[in-house]
Amino acid sequence: MISILSKYFQDLQQDMVHWRRLFHQYPEPAWCEFGTATYVAQSLKEWGFKVYMGQELIADKRMNLPTQENLDTFYYQASERLDLDKTLLEKTKGGYTAVAGVLEIGDAPVKVFRVDMDALPINESQSAEHLPFVKKFASAHDGYMHACGHDAHTAIGLGLAKYLSEHKEKLAGKIILMFQPAEEGLGGMAAVVKHPLFKNIDEAYGFHVWANRMPSEFICGTFGQLASKKFDVQITGKASHAALAPEKGINALLPAAEIILSLEKLKAQFPSHIRLNIGQVQAGTARNIICPEAHLKIETRAGDTITRDELYTTAIETIETISKKHACPCEINLVGEAESAASSKDLAQRVYHIVKGTEIFSNCIESELHNTYSEDYCTLMNHVQKSGGKAVFMGIGASNEAGTHHQTDFDINEEQMWKMAGILAELCISKS
Ligand SMILES: [Zn+2]
Ligand SMILES: [Zn+2]
Repeated sequence: MISILSKYFQDLQQDMVHWRRLFHQYPEPAWCEFGTATYVAQSLKEWGFKVYMGQELIADKRMNLPTQENLDTFYYQASERLDLDKTLLEKTKGGYTAVAGVLEIGDAPVKVFRVDMDALPINESQSAEHLPFVKKFASAHDGYMHACGHDAHTAIGLGLAKYLSEHKEKLAGKIILMFQPAEEGLGGMAAVVKHPLFKNIDEAYGFHVWANRMPSEFICGTFGQLASKKFDVQITGKASHAALAPEKGINALLPAAEIILSLEKLKAQFPSHIRLNIGQVQAGTARNIICPEAHLKIETRAGDTITRDELYTTAIETIETISKKHACPCEINLVGEAESAASSKDLAQRVYHIVKGTEIFSNCIESELHNTYSEDYCTLMNHVQKSGGKAVFMGIGASNEAGTHHQTDFDINEEQMWKMAGILAELCISKS
């Protein structure tokens, strides 16, 4: 059965492909989504949404901000584009890249749909096998790439917005489309969730395209994303001539190396599903100088918030003890965190019935447990559920024989975009 709704989105597919390829071509990392956010905001405005953006939407501290140089570079790149409204772009300056579009038909129910927009610091493949490269919409921003599908998410969000703006008669209550920045580093949602817009939400919906899953699969509700904490460590030693006066220096590399090995060992004390990764180490200035400073970028993840916090605290204690032993002061900065969350069962069930009813997916998965990723959307899920609302996180299979998430040859099956937008539209219309 192909519903009228499917027909609408099949017709809109061409537009969604256009949008997705445009976002893909101009990938912008966390808090630098200047061009993407502006494009979204001007589209929502044109379609009659009430738009919130920039500083007015940020309600809390933004974590894990990029360098000023990165902020300036990406802002400049967006300002050079002719297709962007400069007044709206101005509102995002400084990394205020969140956008929300609101359609208010009545008071209730209040439904929020979350879309993420950020890209990753990855060099895109230039292989003849890589479709974005062959079709000439590969990244124009060197060193950055949409390697997680958030370009498709943004396009799907726009597809949904366009449909809603043309079918207000089918809607009730209030619909909020939240285009969030900084999903990848985690923290984008925490910066906006305390905004009054997110008070008294009845239903929250989030989704992800999964390039590692078959296009026949739709996951109606996920349970137990990994809770995560990301932090930076700075260890300070003292520089000195390595041959003339090594005894006058304090080598920051020694505690750094001991920390790396000790944290690896620490994993064995925790359940096997926890994750602890030291992803980046920078230290030293020259071969003949005692290393004065070491920087480590670390993340911890676990299936629940309590284990995550235990793991985090133990890691911090280990780092502090080792640094002290080597007489090196250390500074630890938390730069991002995500909670664990579970979809509301009855809402996941409603999704299941709706998805099944469309007969688009041969493999409708009612619920999925033990996911090995973290999701910034969990912050919104918990926020909504704590105040009595319901929340669900869905997944749509989108494999196309390309690389998978966070790889240089990542790509998605674009055909899945109209299907996801269609399901979201059904969820907008559906009554509780
Ligand atoms: Zn990702
Ligand atoms: Zn993602």
